[in-house]
Amino acid sequence: MPSQSYQAFITRVREIQMAASIESLLEWDQETMLPPRGAELRAAQLGFIAGVSHERLTGSDFARLLEQAERESAGDPEVEPNLREMRRAFDRKVKLPTSLVQEIARTVSLAKEAWVRARKGSNFAAFAPHLEKLLDLKRQVAEKIGFTTEPYDALMDEYEPGARSADVQKVFDQVKKELVPLVAAIRSAPRRPDESVLKRHAPRETQAVLNRLIATAMGFDFDAGRLDVSTHPFCSGLTPQDVRLTTRYDEHYLPMSLFGVMHEAGHGLYEQGLDPAHAFTPLGQSVSLGIHESQSRMWENLVGRSRSFWLYFYPLLQAALPAWREVPLDDWYFAINTVKPSLIRVEADEVTYNLHIMLRFDLERRMLRGEIAVRDVPAAWNDAFKSLLGITPSSDAEGCLQDIHWSMGIFGYFPTYALGNLYACQFFKAANQALPDLPARIAHGELQPLRDWLRKNIHVHGQRYRADELVKRVTGRPLGHADFMEHLRSKYQPLYGLH
Ligand code: ZN
Repeated sequence: MPSQSYQAFITRVREIQMAASIESLLEWDQETMLPPRGAELRAAQLGFIAGVSHERLTGSDFARLLEQAERESAGDPEVEPNLREMRRAFDRKVKLPTSLVQEIARTVSLAKEAWVRARKGSNFAAFAPHLEKLLDLKRQVAEKIGFTTEPYDALMDEYEPGARSADVQKVFDQVKKELVPLVAAIRSAPRRPDESVLKRHAPRETQAVLNRLIATAMGFDFDAGRLDVSTHPFCSGLTPQDVRLTTRYDEHYLPMSLFGVMHEAGHGLYEQGLDPAHAFTPLGQSVSLGIHESQSRMWENLVGRSRSFWLYFYPLLQAALPAWREVPLDDWYFAINTVKPSLIRVEADEVTYNLHIMLRFDLERRMLRGEIAVRDVPAAWNDAFKSLLGITPSSDAEGCLQDIHWSMGIFGYFPTYALGNLYACQFFKAANQALPDLPARIAHGELQPLRDWLRKNIHVHGQRYRADELVKRVTGRPLGHADFMEHLRSKYQPLYGLH
């Protein structure tokens, strides 16, 4: 039975997280429902609720509650993860002086505007001074938070707790060594897919019906979730019993919404699989962005872009969408697996995607360590791009100015996308070993065995284990590059007629 001081502590933790969850609900509403004139006072509502959660976390009595609970509940494995993760969140918050936090907020609001203009005119020089200032402020953040090897670790820890850049780099280097030649081979492959089959007419209402059918088959519970429309798709897990997905539609590009929904529903299944008994505490929350992304990418790419999946679902798609009746399954399957080095990260396929991330990871670390001057970033970007993907951006808008992250002072976030792809392959292989009939079940439209396996092995644990420990427990090994590369080779070499 947890101590009385722990009860007092966890009651406060629930208040903090409940305020954060109400904030997310307001944000979801802003992206999907809010009438245009509501925006101004919505900002005030958001500011208020963010303040509530901040005060409850940083106030002096939270420090006292946390210390008492730590003293009296030390060694209790049932409560240890909640103490560990709240200590981490608390330390990260209190180590940063308010003046620094405010200066970052001011700098970001100017930098974002400057970035929008700079990207529009493809004028990096106009953004450079803002980037320089943000890097300086983020170096200060890293110093305050503390790190053992390099400042990047302190920043990445916000998104991928416990990850170290030296370890990430080791895995990335191994991937790079094998992936660059594979991408080059695919570029000059004898076979090419006919991408025009993706651009046939698909009415929005029919797409919505298909989306719902597939998300339901995946095991997404529509009594504990919704699917709505927004400009940028996202998933917001307010509680395990209220998970909001969004998508957007293009009537002449079916994959956007189709795979977008499988991606967001993958995130959504993770949120619905968390233990409601631990709601609003770390034990009822996801491990990290990388682990979250492993769930979305597994459903989107490893399931949604597999042949087994379409053996069952393609006839349903053809029945719903007359424009596809004459398109053979093999043509569809090849087209949804188009691999093509492209300039824009968010449009990249599952083979080339990680190269976009590795380039950013490398540049961010060098910028933070001061090894590269900001003015040299465009040239360094273009050189790296050429050597990794074999093409060169024709402008900075299509190069180093394409992502919003840096203008928001976000450094150390990008690697979580690539880690997600790697975790996904390693988890999926473990799932296939545990459930040998999985491909056959998927080919019959039965997706729930996979969902149930993920729920039992990953979702329900919340933050009981850190990402590295979770991977070892679930797959028996630390994170590596082998399963990812094996997946790519076994799928794409035959598809593109390579040996
Ligand atoms: Zn995602």
